Amino acid sequence: QAEKEEVPYLFCSQAMIQKSLQERQLQASIDQAFAQKEFQLYIQFYVDAQTLKVVGGEALSRWKHPQKGILLPSVFIPLLEREKMISRLDYYCLKEVCFFLESLLKAGVDTFFVSCNFSRETFAAADFAQKVQEILNGFTFPRELLILEITESVSVRNAAQIRQNVIALKKYGVRVALDDFGEGFTSFYDLQKYPIDGIKLDKGLVDHVTTPIGTAILKAMIQVGHELNMTILAEGVETDAQVKALQEIHCDVIQGFRFCHPLPQWEATEQIIQNRRT
Ligand code: C2E
Ligand code: CA
Ligand code: CA
Ligand code: CA
Repeated sequence: QAEKEEVPYLFCSQAMIQKSLQERQLQASIDQAFAQKEFQLYIQFYVDAQTLKVVGGEALSRWKHPQKGILLPSVFIPLLEREKMISRLDYYCLKEVCFFLESLLKAGVDTFFVSCNFSRETFAAADFAQKVQEILNGFTFPRELLILEITESVSVRNAAQIRQNVIALKKYGVRVALDDFGEGFTSFYDLQKYPIDGIKLDKGLVDHVTTPIGTAILKAMIQVGHELNMTILAEGVETDAQVKALQEIHCDVIQGFRFCHPLPQWEATEQIIQNRRT
C-alpha cells in the first residue's frame, strides 16, 4: 500500500525538482530585477472603434531577464503573487506610466491615454488610493489620461475596500476600468458596486462577437454600459470581421493583434509622435 502511494510521487519528482529549481533561481533574481530595472513597459495601442485612429495604450510589463531573455507576465506574475511582490511591480509600473505620460506631454501630446494593470492584492489594499496619490505628486499630466485597470476577479473579495478606493481615486481625477469583463464570475451586478468609468470586454467574449449569440450578448453589455455613461473597450480583436461587428454594436475603443502587438516603450513613443505629425 505504502509503496503504491510513493510511485506517483517518485514519478513526477524529477520534473518537480526541475521546476522548483527554476523558480528558486527566478525568485533570487527578482530583487535584482527591480534594482537593475529589468522590468519594462510595453505599450499596446487602443484605437477608436469608428475612426480606427490610435487614441491610447495599455502598459503591459515584460521582464528583460539577463539570461532568459524577455519573459511574459504569465511566467513572472504568478511568481510575484506567491512572493507577495506583485504590488511592488504594480506600483513600479504605475510610476513608469506616469513618466511615460509626462514625457508625452513634454513632446506636446496631451490626449493619449494610458492604462495600467493592477492585481487584486494591490487594488484592495487600504492604502492603495493614498499610494497612487503619492506617486502622482510631482507629475503634471492631465489626470484623466491615466486609467487604472482592475481585473474582474477583484470583485470577488474586499468589495467595500475596493469601492472606497475607486471613489477616492476618482476624486484625484484618474479613471478606473473593469478589465476582463465577461470572463469567469463577472456580472452586471459588479457595475453597481463600483463607480467605474469603463469596462473592457474580455477576449473570450470578443472571440464570439461574429456569431448571432455573441453579437446579442455583447450588444446588450454595451447598451448597459452606455446607459451608465461608461466607455466600452474590447480586447483581443484579431480580425476585420470582429472590427466590423464591434463597430455595428457601438463599441467605443478596440485593441488587439489586428492593429498591433505590444511595443517597447521607445517604439510606441516614436509612433505616437509620428502619428501626431501626419
Ligand atoms: P490583460 O490585461 O487581459 O492583457 C491582454 C493580454 O492579451 C496581453 O498579454 C496582450 O499582449 C494579449 N493580447 C492583446 N491583444 C491580443 C490579441 O489580439 N490576441 C491575443 N491572443 N492576445 C492579445 P500579456 O502582455 O502577456 O499580459 C498578460 C496579462 O498579464 C494581462 O492581461 C494583465 O492582466 C497582466 N499584466 C501585465 N502587466 C501587468 C502588471 O504590470 N501588473 C499586473 N498586476 N498585471 C499585469
Ligand atoms: Ca488589462
Ligand atoms: Ca484584459
Ligand atoms: Ca483578458
